[in-house]
Amino acid sequence: MNAGRLAPSPTGAQHLGNARTYLLAYWSARSTGIKETGKKLILRIEDVDSPRVKPWAMAQAIEDLRWIGIDWDEGPFIQTERLDLYQKALDRLIQANQVFPCTCTRKDIEEAGSAPHFDHEPKIYPGTCSCWQTGDPIPETGSFSWRFRAADHMVSFNDLVLGTQSCNPAKDLGDFPITQKNGSPSYQLAVVVDDALMGITEVVRGNDLIASAFRQIELFNALGYSPPTFAHVPLVLGPDGRRLAKRHGDTRLSTYREQGIAPERIVQWAIESTQIDPANFDWQDLNRDDVTLDF
Ligand code: GLU
Ligand code: ZN
Repeated sequence: MNAGRLAPSPTGAQHLGNARTYLLAYWSARSTGIKETGKKLILRIEDVDSPRVKPWAMAQAIEDLRWIGIDWDEGPFIQTERLDLYQKALDRLIQANQVFPCTCTRKDIEEAGSAPHFDHEPKIYPGTCSCWQTGDPIPETGSFSWRFRAADHMVSFNDLVLGTQSCNPAKDLGDFPITQKNGSPSYQLAVVVDDALMGITEVVRGNDLIASAFRQIELFNALGYSPPTFAHVPLVLGPDGRRLAKRHGDTRLSTYREQGIAPERIVQWAIESTQIDPANFDWQDLNRDDVTLDF
C-alpha cells in the first residue's frame, strides 16, 4: 500500500506557498496511476515544536485544506498524542548507542561549530559531548538534548523533483538533535517515526527541507525502516527573491477566505505556477524554478 501525507505545522497561519505544496501532495496521491495501486493520503498535525505552536492554528489549517478542496483518507493524527511512540524509538537509539546526551548551549555551538554546508542551517556541531557511550551516566533531566551521531559516509537519494542528491552527514551536517532539552521530541524524530509507522511511501514538501532529508534517511536506517521517496518542491518567493513571509503582504489562506476570494482561484494559480495537470499528474511536468508571488 502506498501512502502520501499532508503535514501542517500549527505554528502560524497557512499561506499560499503552503497551499501549493499541499495541492501537489494531493494531486500526486489522487493521480490515476497511483490510485490503481491504492495510494492513500494521511493528514498529520506536526505540533511537537511546543513554544511556537498556536492554539488556533490546527483547526484553521484543517479548514484551509478543506476550503481549497483537499480531502484525505486518514487522520488528522496529532503528534502530541503520539509521544510514547517517539519515546520508544528514542530508547532504541539510546540502547544502540546511536545518540548521546548533549549539554551544549546554542551559543557554545555557534562559537565552536564549523560553517554549514547547506543554506539556512545552523553551525555544524563540533562533537563536544559525543564521547558518551550507552551505559555512561545521563546528565540531569532538562539539562541536555539527545543528539544523533551522523555517520561519516556518503548518503544519496533520488529526489522526484531535484534528481540525485548526496551528502556526507558527518561532514556536511554534523550530529543533530532529536529531542529538545525539555525532553520533547524534535521534528526529525517525530517525522521519521510517523512516516515509518504510517507506511508513508512519498513525502512531498518544500525544498527548504532538503538537508533534513539526509538526517531523516539516517534515522530511518538506524531504526530499521526503509525511507520513503522524496519530492522536494520549489518554494514561493516574494518579489524580493526571499522566501514568502509576512513582509510580502498578507497571503494567509484564512484572509483570502474572509475576503470572499474563490478557492478555485488559488487552485488555478497553483496549476499555472506548477505547470501540473492534476487530471494527468506527472512529476516530469513540474516547473523546477522557485516561483515569485504574483497572485
Ligand atoms: N511540518 C512541516 C512544515 O509544515 C513539514 C515537514 C515535512 O513535510 O516533513 O513545514
Ligand atoms: Zn554537546
